[in-house]
Amino acid sequence: MQPCPACAGRGCEGCRMEGLVELTAADLPDQGTYQALLAAEMAAHGCWPVAGGWLDQTEICVQAVLAARRSGASN
Ligand SMILES: [Zn+2]
Repeated sequence: MQPCPACAGRGCEGCRMEGLVELTAADLPDQGTYQALLAAEMAAHGCWPVAGGWLDQTEICVQAVLAARRSGASN
C-alpha cells in the first residue's frame, strides 16, 4: 500500500477515506515517462546519459545507486 497520490494520505473519495492505495501495474509510468523521470533524477546528481554515464550501466546498478542516494548513503 502507498499513500494516496490524490490526497497525500489525508483521505479522499478515491481512496475511500483510507489515505492508502494499492498500486497496480497500470499505475506505473510508461517507459518514456520512466526514462524522463530517471533522467531528471540522475541529472540532479550530475549524472548524464553519456558514455560512461548511467546509460552504460545495468538497470540493477542504476536502481541500486538511486536506492543508496535516496537512503542518504551517499550524496
Ligand atoms: Zn485519497
